[in-house]
Amino acid sequence: MRLRFLGTGTSHGVPVIGCSCRVCSSDDPRDTRYRSSVFVEGDGGEAILVDAGPEFRLQALRARLTRLDALLVTHAHADHVHGLDDVRPLTRGKPLPVYASRSDAEELRHRFSYAFGHGQEGGGKPRLELSEIDDGATVGGVRVVAVPLLHGQRPILGYRLGGFAYLTDCSAVPDSSRRLLGGLDLLVVDALRLRPHPTHFSVDEALALARELRPGRLLLTHICHDLTHVELESYCDAAGLPFPAGPAYDGLEAEIPAKRQ
Ligand SMILES: [Zn+2]
Ligand SMILES: [Zn+2]
Ligand SMILES: [Zn+2]
Repeated sequence: MRLRFLGTGTSHGVPVIGCSCRVCSSDDPRDTRYRSSVFVEGDGGEAILVDAGPEFRLQALRARLTRLDALLVTHAHADHVHGLDDVRPLTRGKPLPVYASRSDAEELRHRFSYAFGHGQEGGGKPRLELSEIDDGATVGGVRVVAVPLLHGQRPILGYRLGGFAYLTDCSAVPDSSRRLLGGLDLLVVDALRLRPHPTHFSVDEALALARELRPGRLLLTHICHDLTHVELESYCDAAGLPFPAGPAYDGLEAEIPAKRQ
């Protein structure tokens, strides 16, 4: 299984409109962060997207996506779903299966009512097959496990696919979900900034979770404009975790060994 980060930024993206801070004006391409999303390719060629934020079109062009077999939605906040219409060219051959929790599926049906209702037949809307995900789903040969998380007070979903788990937008991981996260090759966790935040893990909270779960590697995502990539990398190095840990960046690719799937 291979994955590629399409975006690793927080809800307003980095640079932030109107901001001229040193991170927003950095020359390092790793300090430009589109809204968070990841693309996973299974060993059988399964093409799985997690979240479709406002930059999905640009992300798909940059990653040269030509097809999608499933879209996994973590939650219906704007920065995770407002690119949903742009999956349209990838749904010409067949409708795209979209998975979300019951409450987020409800929100999507309401917000994108033109796509799920009648009307506009023959074009102008993406063909989506929305399913409420319970414990998980299967996409080709890939088993997808839903991992319930808390994003402030809001229940949302992380996902585990084989040896890879993606936990964006979370401030707490219930014990029952921690039990789904053993033996990971790669853990990706929300780490908004150093200072605490009511609905997102801080970097220290993300590192503490990883210390407990002991994955083969940790990558941080959903990052704001407080620290540059290089500063965050040094911060993670100084934490002295017993496995490689650092910030992800847009375009970063990672390979997950097949043995754990
Ligand atoms: Zn978000
Ligand atoms: Zn800034
Ligand atoms: Zn959110």
